[in-house]
Amino acid sequence: MEQIIKNTIEGLKKNNFDVKYFETSKEAVQEILKEIKAEDTVGIGGSMTIKDLELDTLLKERGNTVYWHWLEANVEDMNKARRTAAQADVYLTSSNALTQDGKLVNTDGMGNRVSAMFYGPKKTIVVCGKNKITENVDAALERIEKNAYKNARRLKLNTPCAINESCIDCSSPQRMCNITTIIRKKPTQKDFTVVLINEELGY
Ligand code: SF4
Repeated sequence: MEQIIKNTIEGLKKNNFDVKYFETSKEAVQEILKEIKAEDTVGIGGSMTIKDLELDTLLKERGNTVYWHWLEANVEDMNKARRTAAQADVYLTSSNALTQDGKLVNTDGMGNRVSAMFYGPKKTIVVCGKNKITENVDAALERIEKNAYKNARRLKLNTPCAINESCIDCSSPQRMCNITTIIRKKPTQKDFTVVLINEELGY
């Protein structure tokens, strides 16, 4: 196992998170499906990692009720899915960055994803590829800023980063970077698992 992965696992454990490490996403998916009970409702936050692992489809196929705004077609239904996801039994998402000393750093436009990570659902499962690991919080913020244009393009937003691939701390009406959170230690009374995978996943 690479040293940065070892450091991150140790850092997360020190910060009271449950950590599960897998060499492949296939193994990770099997474990996540075991960890979520068949009767659990599952909210999902915007995440290319979760989409690429097809966890929404696998959960629905085996009978879980899934709330995910990415599966909805209009603004009203998307907002409803965001609200119900924040009250689900389990919240499933990724993190924009994981620091080697065990912190989770995230930036959101609306805040539904970052807030549901630490408050609302009884259990949170955060799934991350090794590409999300950064040395420290400063590097995490840099990582988020550097990769933001990919989300802007995916969402077809009219922001400077979507055009120039770099952030100018814009005041665009469609700005995505309005709330940044650092989860320093496991939130009180929260069942919180970080699933770390030795693959590059999401961005
Ligand atoms: S602040 Fe604006 S330019 Fe910078 S990444 Fe966010 S949306 Fe893009």
